[in-house]
Amino acid sequence: MYLQDLPLEILIQVLSTLSLTDMQKLMLVNFGWRWLIQRFLSRKYHLSLLPYVDNPSAFRDVMRTSHSIISGSFALDFGLHGTTEPLINASDIDVYTGVSNAITIVEYLRNKEGYLIVPVGINPCWAWIDDYEGGITSVIRMLHPRGSKIDVVCSSRISALHPLSYFWGTLVMNFLTSDGYCSAYPSLTERGIGCIHPLRDVTPRVERCIEKYKSRGFSIRDFAQNEAEPHTSRSTKGLRKFGAQRMKVAVPWHCPHVVRSFSDAGSLHLAFSPRSRGETLYPFEEPEWIMGGSHCGGGCKLHSEGSVNPRATYF
Ligand SMILES: [Zn+2]
Repeated sequence: MYLQDLPLEILIQVLSTLSLTDMQKLMLVNFGWRWLIQRFLSRKYHLSLLPYVDNPSAFRDVMRTSHSIISGSFALDFGLHGTTEPLINASDIDVYTGVSNAITIVEYLRNKEGYLIVPVGINPCWAWIDDYEGGITSVIRMLHPRGSKIDVVCSSRISALHPLSYFWGTLVMNFLTSDGYCSAYPSLTERGIGCIHPLRDVTPRVERCIEKYKSRGFSIRDFAQNEAEPHTSRSTKGLRKFGAQRMKVAVPWHCPHVVRSFSDAGSLHLAFSPRSRGETLYPFEEPEWIMGGSHCGGGCKLHSEGSVNPRATYF
């Protein structure tokens, strides 16, 4: 029996029970599965955006041309598809844009979708700037008369991904582009585990955020308490540089002392559109980060002070 002989309802039922990691593997089987999964995820993305925008396709076009992304609870909820982890029920969308593209998103939402800008004087999001320790320059809160809310977070760099390296922990280091999904810690995230950044200040807002995820059933812990989930056990192979050579070795991607980026082999990449390939989901410069801290929970010999390091070399 061929794939196309199966009723669509059965195919949808199959895909509804698969995690994104499983879908990524299934996409490698043949072109048919790849096409089906891309259509399924693109449709899911479209439906998820409908409460916020009247025209999700046009909104994704603007995201594509402005190299903007969606992160926060909305992206986390999308990434937990097919797992047994709790529903998030995101109440808004956080759109992250590069410093030169925020105006494009704001003007689009204002002129085409009927959103209104919350005046600066009563915008509560300004306090967020401290949470990012320099990773963002502003947050524009936009409300629609029907009640939906979109926060446009403006990066302090050209890359919309820059602020994500300042997040409080691994659970939220996921994002959607116009045509794909990426998670920096997919193995932990799909099991509902989030490790707190060892060197970030836990501001009252971040503390409330962590409590919110805990109350929903997620396990939020320090890297040092992560022995039960050894960070080498589910590592994938990646290229690392040793002197002049690049060798394929098992990399402990969950170790806070390892240099990470969203394009490395430890991250999950899923492209929803044949136009975008997994490796080039985001055609703009992206950050690298080392979380650091005194203990990693895995007994590694690696050690680092921790930093956001836009162009770090491996050590
Ligand atoms: Zn380690």
